Amino acid sequence: MADKPTIASFDFTSCEGCQLQILNCEDELLAIVGAVDIVEFREAIDDKADHYNIAFIEGAFTRESDRARLETIRSKADVVVALGACACTGGLNVLKNFRGIEKSMKLVYGDKADWFETSPALPISAAIKVDYEIPGCPISKDEFLSFVKSVLAGKTWSLPEYPVCVECKLKENVCLYHKGEYCMGVVTRAGCGAWCPSYGGRCYGCRGLIPDPNNNAAKDVLEEFGLTMDQIMGEFRLFNGVYDVAEPPAEARVD
Ligand code: SF4
Ligand code: SF4
Ligand code: SF4
Repeated sequence: MADKPTIASFDFTSCEGCQLQILNCEDELLAIVGAVDIVEFREAIDDKADHYNIAFIEGAFTRESDRARLETIRSKADVVVALGACACTGGLNVLKNFRGIEKSMKLVYGDKADWFETSPALPISAAIKVDYEIPGCPISKDEFLSFVKSVLAGKTWSLPEYPVCVECKLKENVCLYHKGEYCMGVVTRAGCGAWCPSYGGRCYGCRGLIPDPNNNAAKDVLEEFGLTMDQIMGEFRLFNGVYDVAEPPAEARVD
């Protein structure tokens, strides 16, 4: 028992949907639970430990006072994994950065805004070193399981470096551009199995950008519909606004 790898899971600013995805792994979870010691997981168990082989962190870094807790987790963990869009890019939380923190606080808390602490939403990597990122809003169960199995087997693990369009075409979906709709799959990192287009919805880019989108985007889709990379990238702020945090462009403001 003592030799089993220890796993912990922590949540910061999030909806906790990614941790629920882990609990939704059902059948596979029983095998995982047999192979590891889960020492902290507020959604499932209440236990504490001084050392974690793997620490999963869900949620964005949105309060300066969370920095100390993140640093403590980092100091106890061999491997830190950012779990989901909130942890990897700040996710939807970053939208408040564009509105302006003061205005966002007043809209949410009204005259009680001063009672609460907040700061611009950032990825976990803005506070501590992150070893792996499992992106998505929510994460893909299959991708989470492939990560855990690889790490437990001592194998290396990496994310796909091609766009969602590749998976979408393999599924023989009719491209949404052919239906007069917009889709971010062209520049979004694959790995979800083209989840949204396969059910008729557009890709909103929840898994973040592919590396070097200018060279790696599905340019045949863009060219076919007369679109440029700039037009596509301008739509990429819903889950990836953090890339513009330093100086939000005027057209991205919602005030
Ligand atoms: S990434 Fe999405 S599903 Fe996961 S915690 Fe954040 S908001 Fe929830
Ligand atoms: S743009 Fe969207 S719908 Fe079209 S192929 Fe790519 S992922 Fe599929
Ligand atoms: S299709 Fe796009 S928005 Fe949907 S899960 Fe995949 S990356 Fe996220």
